[in-house]
Amino acid sequence: MQKILIANRGEIALRVMRSCKEMGIKTVAIFSEVDRNSPHVIYADEAVCVGPAPSNQSYLLGDKIIQICKELHVDGIHPGYGFLSENADFAKKVKENGIIFIGPGHEAIEIMGSKLSAKNAVKKYNTPLVPGTEEPISDLAVAKKISSEIGYPILIKASAGGGGKGMRIVQHEGEFEEQMQRAQSEAKNSFGDDSCFIEKYVGSPRHIEVQVLGDHYGNYIYVFERECSIQRRHQKVVEEAPSPILTNEIRTKIGEAAINAAKSCNYTNAGTVEFILDENLNFYFLEMNTRLQVEHPVSELISGLDLVKEQIKIARGEAISLKQEDLKILGHAMELRVYAEDPMNNFLPDIGRLEEYKKPEGAGIRIDDGFREGMDIPIFYDPMIAKLITYGKNREEAIDRMKRAINEFKIKGVKTTLPFGTFVMNHPNFISGDFDTHFVEKHYKPEYLNVNLTNNEVQILEAFGAVHSFFESNDIVKTSHNVQPKASNWKKNRRN
Ligand code: ADP
Ligand code: ADP
Ligand code: MG
Repeated sequence: MQKILIANRGEIALRVMRSCKEMGIKTVAIFSEVDRNSPHVIYADEAVCVGPAPSNQSYLLGDKIIQICKELHVDGIHPGYGFLSENADFAKKVKENGIIFIGPGHEAIEIMGSKLSAKNAVKKYNTPLVPGTEEPISDLAVAKKISSEIGYPILIKASAGGGGKGMRIVQHEGEFEEQMQRAQSEAKNSFGDDSCFIEKYVGSPRHIEVQVLGDHYGNYIYVFERECSIQRRHQKVVEEAPSPILTNEIRTKIGEAAINAAKSCNYTNAGTVEFILDENLNFYFLEMNTRLQVEHPVSELISGLDLVKEQIKIARGEAISLKQEDLKILGHAMELRVYAEDPMNNFLPDIGRLEEYKKPEGAGIRIDDGFREGMDIPIFYDPMIAKLITYGKNREEAIDRMKRAINEFKIKGVKTTLPFGTFVMNHPNFISGDFDTHFVEKHYKPEYLNVNLTNNEVQILEAFGAVHSFFESNDIVKTSHNVQPKASNWKKNRRN
């Protein structure tokens, strides 16, 4: 491969280009009219404008992108994440046009693109599934009957869902129909497919996902797990590797289950198998993401691999050179997604201009971003400004570095998730590993950030653990909380 077009924008486009450059491969950027001066455009060897700002007039124009590849003699397309990355038709067309799609085959994207067909595929390998239905809901009475057998609360999920959308919790039978209709119409509007299914709602779950790589010769490896339980709106904000909760025994089991999921659809290239882990450390398959994941850097830091280089090598027909035994976990990595969102106001997107933008530096810090000082955060795309990633010899050091890095990261002009990151890093439950996907609703109150802002910011942020226990001991948390913090087994089950 001599030249790769990156069918994406922002931090992920830049990140892919950097690996290409190290491999001596030329890069082509595409951009929309609002992204004309973006770092990914400046960095690329060549750049082509694909259209106006809205994605459906630019970054989603598959045919136009393929046409550009032909004109510029591009031999590979890297889709990044989001946009066309999980579009089986696009992957198929790319191949039919004699261009290499740097990702899995379109058949695998198709199977894993539907949560229902994914479940049916992995079932053949006895991969544990969350109890529920494996066909779309068609009969209300039957669906209600199954739900009471499973036991409420249950989840109604869109088969084509993604990005935390198309999911509805049903607490009791009385609200089943209403929630089902909402889930179906959200699914229809967002994904053009209203198929929904039922899943048991796992209480106190952790989101654990496994990075896998597969080549064209039937070789598979797993690059360990990522813990992604700190979420808002069913979407990740803080990720880490390895998970503080897994034992080596479960790590091997979940890794092998992930490889089986990949085998079930003849998966090639890099992919992620997502699992949910219950309090008794049982894991269940959730879905497979057939692309490079936002949070892939934490896996790179603990494994020493460059996942984009591995993707390119696999795509150009090389066999995976590593054996499972060659891979070792070294140290600990933490990632905070720095979103232009207001943690004081329900994490609502907060667009505007980056009036000040100063990045932290020094040992153990990696920043993957796609913005520079003075740039506007466009309203058209995902509001992520940067991924702040820290590495340490152990979890404690990764956390300490994250605290320092957040402190040094100066962003003015838009609200960001940086102060929320400080809250998480100082929280006793996060530090001890006793947390689940409900961390935000159980432990977080916007007022906690207020306390910091009205006082000497840095000092109070440092002392945050103490501030939190002050709130708890004065019952402020409990009386003003709508979700009662429930005792969990996570502490008991911790590895150490
Ligand atoms: P990850 O699992 O990699 O963290 P996210 O769920 O945060 O993925 O999504 C990554 C990006 O892909 C986001 O920009 C999100 O909006 C987009 N995305 C995810 N799933 C879909 C989908 N089914 N359709 C469209 N965009 C999606
Ligand atoms: P998406 O395609 O939107 O990423 P997922 O199936 O991966 O959908 O689920 C996203 C998040 O929703 C999970 O990380 C978890 O927090 C929550 N979730 C999904 N399924 C369940 C379940 N059965 N029980 C409890 N929480 C769940
Ligand atoms: Mg998911």
